[in-house]
Amino acid sequence: MQRSILLWLSRNTFFRRLTTQLSFVRRAVMRFVAGETVDDAIRVIRELNAQGIVATLDHLGENVTNQDEARRAADDYISVLEAIGATGVKSHVSVKLTAIGLDLGDDFCRANAARILTKAREVGAFVRIDMESTDYTDRTLAIYRSLRQEFDNVGIVIQAYLYRSEADIDALCQAGARVRLCKGAYKEPPLKAFPKKADVDANYVRLTRMLLSDKARIRGTRGAIATHDPRMIEAAQRYAAENKVPLDEFEFQMLYGIRRELQRQLAGEGYGMRVYVPYGTEWYPYFMRRLAERPANVWFVLSNLLRR
Ligand SMILES: Cc1cc2nc3c(=O)[nH]c(=O)nc-3n(C[C@H](O)[C@H](O)[C@H](O)COP(=O)(O)OP(=O)(O)OC[C@H]3O[C@@H](n4cnc5c(N)ncnc54)[C@H](O)[C@@H]3O)c2cc1C
Repeated sequence: MQRSILLWLSRNTFFRRLTTQLSFVRRAVMRFVAGETVDDAIRVIRELNAQGIVATLDHLGENVTNQDEARRAADDYISVLEAIGATGVKSHVSVKLTAIGLDLGDDFCRANAARILTKAREVGAFVRIDMESTDYTDRTLAIYRSLRQEFDNVGIVIQAYLYRSEADIDALCQAGARVRLCKGAYKEPPLKAFPKKADVDANYVRLTRMLLSDKARIRGTRGAIATHDPRMIEAAQRYAAENKVPLDEFEFQMLYGIRRELQRQLAGEGYGMRVYVPYGTEWYPYFMRRLAERPANVWFVLSNLLRR
């Protein structure tokens, strides 16, 4: 119930205008967002790198409504890739296709993505295409597949809450894709997604095993296990140990500001640990989805009201 309300508010423009003005909300946001500028993002990545943790940078923004905005978003990614190249920080980038024009046409969006990938290739960086709501799943996968024919520095995300994901992972493993597996952050109907958390978790473990299997890795598949859930992490560790999966053939991923201790612990134990670092002014929908995942975070936001 709380989750549904928060996800609904994440798309509500009136509430967005209201809350983004409030200074105590802005203070709370900084727990989950690196800051508003490229310099803020690079500073945070340096701090993570110093702890043996690598990053993937997300320039916040989604669902742009005109071509200029979409081109500007792609240009912002190109600037941040230049900064990654110039500073030598260890970071990939993560891109939402709706931020670079998916609502304005597949060819237009693909062209923007190709510009980003070309710059990324130049500076030796990797681009992960984030997965958004099921309104976009088929088109996101189609654009990923088309880009993959031209670029080898591109990967995709699959959401364990969807019934279709087992078949999608199967096809991606056959193609030797680099896949981030997450549970899924959007509001989806029971026709498309497991309504019960226990079923999402069981599917997550099943899909993790598919990604880490010999059969998949032999074709070049690399799994990124993106979760803060210790049970999912333990299941991946157990499977990897039992099947002698080399530690450099998969990695764990978590979001900036969540379970920081666990991030450091996994990096210290020798696992690949990558943190998703969002930055930019368009933080509202991202932040609301983080509250929806853990409504207790609403109290964290309100506690900032009491701080000076
Ligand atoms: C690196 C990364 C990239 C992602 N990319 C995508 C994407 O492209 N598309 C997409 O749909 N989703 C994406 N997600 C979000 C994901 O789908 C989940 O919504 C999110 O990770 C919460 O699920 P969980 O696996 O952590 O498990 P949960 O069962 O939700 O949480 C497990 C535990 O983690 C902690 N936790 C989880 N969320 C929070 C929070 N917000 N604040 C504080 N503690 C929390 C809590 O202790 C909780 O008990 C991504 C997540 C990560 C880590």
